[in-house]
Amino acid sequence: MEIRVEPEDSMNELIDIAAKELKKSKKAVALTGAGISVESSIPPFRGKGGLWEKYNPDEYAHVLAFKRNPGKVWIMLKEMIDTIRVAKPNLAHIALAELEEMGYLKGVITGNVDFLHQAAGSKNVIELHGNNRSLICMECGKRYPVERYLEEMPPRCKCGYALRPDVVLFGEPIPQHALFGSYELARECDLMIVIGTSAVVSPMSHMPVIAKENGANVMEINLEETFLTGSISNCIIKGKAGDILPKILREVKEL
Ligand code: NAD
Ligand code: ZN
Repeated sequence: MEIRVEPEDSMNELIDIAAKELKKSKKAVALTGAGISVESSIPPFRGKGGLWEKYNPDEYAHVLAFKRNPGKVWIMLKEMIDTIRVAKPNLAHIALAELEEMGYLKGVITGNVDFLHQAAGSKNVIELHGNNRSLICMECGKRYPVERYLEEMPPRCKCGYALRPDVVLFGEPIPQHALFGSYELARECDLMIVIGTSAVVSPMSHMPVIAKENGANVMEINLEETFLTGSISNCIIKGKAGDILPKILREVKEL
C-alpha cells in the first residue's frame, strides 16, 4: 500500500512510519550514497567540503585522465584512500546491518567504495562502483592489496604498468553482476530507503525509479531535498543518517 504522509508530519512521525513499513515489508532494500559515510569522516564528492571542490573530476576521476597521467590522478586517489583506510562504520551503517540481521532488510545497494557496510556486518551488499580494497593492473589484470600504494607513487604492477584501485572511474561501465543484481533488488523490493545520495549519478539514480515503477514505497533520509523528493520518493526524513537510522531501528525493536 502506498505510504501517505502529510506535510505537517513531524520527524518522529516519519520515523514511526519508516519503522512500521520496515516491519511490514519482507523485501525492503537500502540504497546508499556518499552521505551515509560523511559521519565516518569521509567527505562526499559534491557540495560543501566535497572532493570536487578541490579536484576537477574530468582531470582526476576519468579513466582517460588515468591512462594519460596516472601520477596526477593518484594525488586524488591517495587522499581518498588515506581517508577511507582509517574510517570506521558509523551508527547508520551499523543500524542497516542490524536490520538485515533481524530479517527486515534484504540488502544494500551502494555507490560507496569504502567497504563500511561490510565492516559494519552487512552481508548482502551490492557495490555499484567497486571498492578501494584492492589495486588492479589495466594491462595484465593482476590484483594487489591496496597497501601497495604506500610503497611507491604511483604504485606499479610487476609488469611495469601503473596500478589503479578496483573502482569504477568516470567513462567506465558498471560491473555487470552489480548492475543486474541491483536491478533485481530494486524491481523486487516493496520499500526502498534512499540514504545520503544526491541521486544524480546514474545508474544509481535509476534504482528508486525502478522500485517506484514496480510498486514500492520510496523513503529518503538526507540533509536536504534531492531530485527524487516530491516526485519519486513518498517522503524525506531530513537529518543525519547516523541520527535517524538508529531511531528507526529502536522503533522497529519496540513495535
Ligand atoms: P553525493 O556526494 O553526490 O551526495 C551526498 C548526499 O548526501 C547529498 O545529497 C547530501 O545532502 C547527503 N548527506 C551529506 N551528509 C549526510 C548525512 N550525514 N546524512 C544523510 N545525508 C547526508 O553522493 P552520491 O550521490 O553517493 O554520489 C557520489 C558517488 O561518488 C558515489 O556513488 C560514490 O561512487 C562516490 N563516492 C564515494 C564515497 C565513499 O565511498 N564514502 C565518498 C565520496 C564519493
Ligand atoms: Zn600488470
